[in-house]
Amino acid sequence: MADYDILVIGCGPAGLCAASYAARAGYRTIAVDSLGPGGQLLFIDEIENYPGQASTSGYALAEAFEKQATSFGAEIAFSEAKSIKKENGSFITETSDGEIRSKAVIFAAGARHRHLGCTGEEEYQGKGVSYCATCDGPFFRGKDIIVVGGGDTALTDALYLSKLGRTVTIVHRRTEFRGQKALQDRVFAKDNIKLQLGKNLTEIRGDGKLVKEAVLSDGTVLQADAVFIFVGIIPNSELLEGVAELDHGFVITDGKMETSVPGLFAAGDVRTTPFRQVVTAAGDGAAAAHAADEYIQNL
Ligand code: NAP
Repeated sequence: MADYDILVIGCGPAGLCAASYAARAGYRTIAVDSLGPGGQLLFIDEIENYPGQASTSGYALAEAFEKQATSFGAEIAFSEAKSIKKENGSFITETSDGEIRSKAVIFAAGARHRHLGCTGEEEYQGKGVSYCATCDGPFFRGKDIIVVGGGDTALTDALYLSKLGRTVTIVHRRTEFRGQKALQDRVFAKDNIKLQLGKNLTEIRGDGKLVKEAVLSDGTVLQADAVFIFVGIIPNSELLEGVAELDHGFVITDGKMETSVPGLFAAGDVRTTPFRQVVTAAGDGAAAAHAADEYIQNL
């Protein structure tokens, strides 16, 4: 069994920042992620509100986070955490590459895309239905694109897609967006972004091979080559079910990122927090590493 002081589960901004702080504080630290470092950063085309950074890509920021963590001595492994338990004061985490024993665990497993659940959504995934503008947007140059959702992701990605598509139509269930005002202003100023507000998207239709049109709750039928769905996130917290206290799947923490289990901390999108940004995730990671440091010192 491999022995570490601190195990970080998840290598998005929260996990990588936690690993940096933990390793820099002199702790033997490993961070694991089945998909490798970056987390949701890898799906963000452009980030312009990370402090001290001019506009940058999510990929570039992920690389910088990773380099910083490894420069302080953190190990990063492509492996999946499968179960976690506390035994005689230590945590034993079973991973796809064997067991890891650690004094503390920082859980930063992030969140995944929520699906809309409408007719045709599953059938046309990869045939025009997508959850990632950076990954699939370039396939729809000059085409008519629908974006569903009204949060920061929907607005950011509608702006990105408007540079590629002929038109982008945002379909949102309410008449107001919840995304940042600065993003709303940019969306309203774009000539090729149209709005369908106060309506749900109820059906995605195609010819069996590709998306052709989308039906809205008021009966409107929109011609469309692609439907990008950005309706929020689901926390990747299944591993902690029955281990720590959760609220609608989000891990409950206090301001020090402590969960209901001493020595187990949670950081980033997976925890209960009112604001999910790269900067808040990174801040959570730093706070969790600091709290883990205090916890280990008091063992
Ligand atoms: P979000 O803020 O939860 O927004 C989800 C949107 O989808 C909401 O507008 C919601 O509508 C809508 N929605 C949810 N379920 C739906 C359903 N079943 N049918 C139709 N619409 C549905 O999620 P997000 O935009 O992915 O953002 C996640 C977090 O990442 C946020 O904290 C956000 O601030 C952050 N983020 C930041 C940036 C940035 O800083 N540039 C970029 C991307 C994301 P209602 O509004 O009616 O609830």
